[in-house]
Amino acid sequence: MEGSVGSAGDRCIACKGAMRSIGVEPSRVGGTTGGWKLLVGGAELGEGMLSFEVLACTACRRVELRLPPGGR
Ligand SMILES: [Zn+2]
Repeated sequence: MEGSVGSAGDRCIACKGAMRSIGVEPSRVGGTTGGWKLLVGGAELGEGMLSFEVLACTACRRVELRLPPGGR
């Protein structure tokens, strides 16, 4: 089992098709309706922010999210 660092050769878990990386989207951990407005002006860029790499299957159009390389 080799480490899957990097994005080359990713396969869709549903149809084994090739996954294409769309990009990295920053997301806030804790749900979409959390009190995010309360954080504006404060530590909005601190804890709670997490970036996800968005990958889409070119065959069945399934979308997956994963941590980008170097992310946390
Ligand atoms: Zn697929």
